[in-house]
Amino acid sequence: MLKLRKDFPILQTKINDKPLVYLDNAATSQKPQVVIDAITDFYTKYNFNIHRGIYSYAEYATTLFEDVRKKVAAFINSDPEEIVFTSGTTGGINFVALAWADKNIKKGDEIIISQMEHHSNLVPWQELAKKNGAILKVIPVKADYQLDLNIYEELLSTNTKLVAVTHVSNALGTQNDIEFITKKAHQYGAKVLIDAAQSVAHQKIDVKKINCDFLVFSGHKMLGPTGIGVLYIKKDLHALIEPYQFGGGMVFQAGFDNASWLQAPHKFEAGTPPIAQAIGLGSAIDYIKTNIDFDYLKTYEASLCSKLIDELALLKQVKILGNIDQLKHSGHIVSFVIDGMHPHDIAAYLDMHGICVRAGHHCAQPLHIALGIDSSVRVSFYAYNTLEETVYLICKIKDLIKLI
Ligand code: PMP
Repeated sequence: MLKLRKDFPILQTKINDKPLVYLDNAATSQKPQVVIDAITDFYTKYNFNIHRGIYSYAEYATTLFEDVRKKVAAFINSDPEEIVFTSGTTGGINFVALAWADKNIKKGDEIIISQMEHHSNLVPWQELAKKNGAILKVIPVKADYQLDLNIYEELLSTNTKLVAVTHVSNALGTQNDIEFITKKAHQYGAKVLIDAAQSVAHQKIDVKKINCDFLVFSGHKMLGPTGIGVLYIKKDLHALIEPYQFGGGMVFQAGFDNASWLQAPHKFEAGTPPIAQAIGLGSAIDYIKTNIDFDYLKTYEASLCSKLIDELALLKQVKILGNIDQLKHSGHIVSFVIDGMHPHDIAAYLDMHGICVRAGHHCAQPLHIALGIDSSVRVSFYAYNTLEETVYLICKIKDLIKLI
């Protein structure tokens, strides 16, 4: 979508004297000028703390911040009080682990995750399971890079207290059937957490349709700034969850012996929140709503994936790690390995030509171990990437292979 490129100042820059070809959007997205301006504007004109002062500017800053909560809520079809601002996806998952799971998951209870989880959606549960004597169960990935949902159904039982899975794998690009996963978990009374870090910028998220209990994502992967994330908590759970952080901004009444809390979401947001970052996130949502049609984006990104996959498939040294049919239909991430070449060397070679891709285990080390490799190369597209960039990448991969 060529017309968007002019909105992103970084895309006009060079890397190693070559025009920047940014293909690491799964790590973080670039920021349009309007988002950068919204943050600068906030610090220049409205830098007042929120929920405290009664002077008009403090109230104005509060309104700006709370308006973002409404925007986020509308963006994922929830209600504003169901939106808790966090530091990111990781912050949201740790919140659920500490505030909800620590109290509700006991010895012998079971947590189900999948083999394709980012460390963010693995380690908090692993730690909690160790601390509380719970059991962590893992849905395996099949040879076609999809989750084995038959095994998932076998893993579920009345001992299952939580199912925590990613919507889209950051390492494989696989999109999981989260509505099915949620429906099945609920049949056993388990709660469901969805990691939407890799999907929220690419498709419409509707928490009512998914019917999950928790959903998390990061602002920086959806054109917004770092330092802000969103945790959706279904309203029914609010009264059952106690804050796990305490301080200013969340107290209704405090004495030396005791304190009581405000209603959610404020009881879950102790201390000064990331105000400027929230303003930036609000601007990112406005930008997406104005400029990006998710149906078109899906076809567009899938066309870039298809081009890359079709060309890589012709190279016998290349193995694609992902479900080709799904990626060609609706993907935005293509991971691969090249025989006889370390992923770091591939990324370093591409970097010399101005191309940014990710090499490593992408914080999905257990998945890589299961695939029998320690790292891979990941190309991840977003709306501002072009066919020309994809063709240039393919050309450089071919040049590299000739060097082997
Ligand atoms: N989950 C997934 C699927 C991710 O891709 C990422 C970021 N790579 C995270 C969680 C963690 O996000 P953050 O570092 O913004 O907290």
